[in-house]
Amino acid sequence: MLRRTVTDDEAIIARLAGDEFTILFPHVDDQAGAARLGSLLLDALAKPIEIDGFRITVGASIGIALTPNHGTTLAQLMRAADVAMYHAKANGRGQFQFYTEALTERMAQRTQLESELRTAIARDEFTLVFQPQMALASGEIQAVEGLLRWIHPTDGLRYPGSFLACAEESGLIAEIGNWSILALAKHAARWGHDSLAPRMAVNLSPRQVARPNFFQRLNDAFVQYNAPLSVIEFEVSEAVLMDCGPAMVEQLVSLRQRGARIAIDDFGSGLSSLSRLRSLPFDTVKLDTTLVAGIEHDAAARDIVQAVIGLVHSLGAQAVAEGVETLGQLDVLRVMGCDAAQGYAIAPPMTEEDCRAWLSNTRARIAA
Ligand code: C2E
Ligand code: CA
Ligand code: CA
Repeated sequence: MLRRTVTDDEAIIARLAGDEFTILFPHVDDQAGAARLGSLLLDALAKPIEIDGFRITVGASIGIALTPNHGTTLAQLMRAADVAMYHAKANGRGQFQFYTEALTERMAQRTQLESELRTAIARDEFTLVFQPQMALASGEIQAVEGLLRWIHPTDGLRYPGSFLACAEESGLIAEIGNWSILALAKHAARWGHDSLAPRMAVNLSPRQVARPNFFQRLNDAFVQYNAPLSVIEFEVSEAVLMDCGPAMVEQLVSLRQRGARIAIDDFGSGLSSLSRLRSLPFDTVKLDTTLVAGIEHDAAARDIVQAVIGLVHSLGAQAVAEGVETLGQLDVLRVMGCDAAQGYAIAPPMTEEDCRAWLSNTRARIAA
C-alpha cells in the first residue's frame, strides 16, 4: 500500500471503482467555493485529449457533499455525494449537483425499495404477464410479449415503471434478469414445442445485456430446459442498440443465427442514426406509443408513421405498432401497411393461463 502524509490543505483524489472517482477537499470555504471547483473540474475534464493520434473527449457528472451539513463521517459524505452524482447524471450529465434535503427523502425511499427488491428476489415475488401481438393482414396472433410484474405482499401488483429504474441503478437488475432468463426458458419450453404457439418477445435492459456472462447464462438456461431459441424475439430499446459496441452486436448476430429474432423497441422515442441502423442485426421494429398516439385524428402524425413504416420495410424488417388503443388506430395502421400491432385495442397483458385461453378463443374465431 502506498502511504504518504497528507497535509491539511491538500486535496485527495481516489478511484472508487470503474469510472468513479472521489476528490476530498479538506479546505473549501463555502458552497460558492465548491461550485467554482465543480465548474473548473468540468471544464478541465471536457478538454479533448490526444492518445496515439486519436482525439478523445470525456465528460463527467459531479455530485458534491459538504461537511458538516451533509454528513460528518466519510461514509455519510460519500453516500451523499453519490446520490447527488446520480441526480447530476439523471439531469443530463456534464454538470454538478449539490446534495439537498429533498434528495435525502428520495434516498430513503430508494434504500427501502432496494431492500424490498432484495426480499422480492429471495421470495420469488416476480411473474411474467403476456400481451398478444396481432398480424394486421390475417388477424392471427404472431407473438406475445412477456412483461414483468412484481406481486408485492402489501401493495399488490406493481408495474416495472415503479421499480425497474431502481433495480438498474442498484445493480439488482442482474438478479431479476437471471430470474427472467430462467422464467423465459421455462415458458419457451412449455410453448415452444407447440407448432401453433406464437413467438415470445422478451425485453432486455441495458445493464442486463452489459453483464459479461449474460449471453452465456441465457444459452445455459435454454439448454437446461431444452427450449428452442427460435421461438424467442429479444426486444432491445432503440437507445441501447444505437449505443452498443461490436461485442454486443456479435452476440445478437449469434442469437439470430440460432433462430432467435431481434426487435428494436420504442423506435421513434430516441435519436437513431440511419446509417448505423443499416449495419445492425434486427428483424422487427416496434413503433413507439408516442408515434402511434395521434394517427387517428392528425394528418401530420399519419405522414410520419407512414414514412417510418416505409423506412422499416426498406431495411427488410417488420413494423409493429405499440400502444394501439382504438379500433380506429388499428384500421389506419392496416391501411398504411403496418405489419402487426399490440395494445389494449387487441388485448391487455394477461397471466399465462388467461393468455392461453384467449389465444385458443381467438384461433377458433379466425378459423370459424
Ligand atoms: P415496453 O417494452 O414498451 O412495454 C409496453 C408497455 O406498454 C407495457 O407496460 C404494457 O403494459 C403497456 N401497454 C400495452 N398496451 C398498451 C396500450 O394500448 N396503451 C398504453 N398506453 N400502454 C400499453 P409495462 O408492462 O408497465 O412495462 C413498461 C416497460 O418496462 C416496458 O416497456 C419494458 O421496457 C420494461 N419491461 C417490462 N417487462 C420487462 C422485463 O421482463 N425485463 C426488462 N428488462 N424490462 C421489462
Ligand atoms: Ca418491449
Ligand atoms: Ca416499447
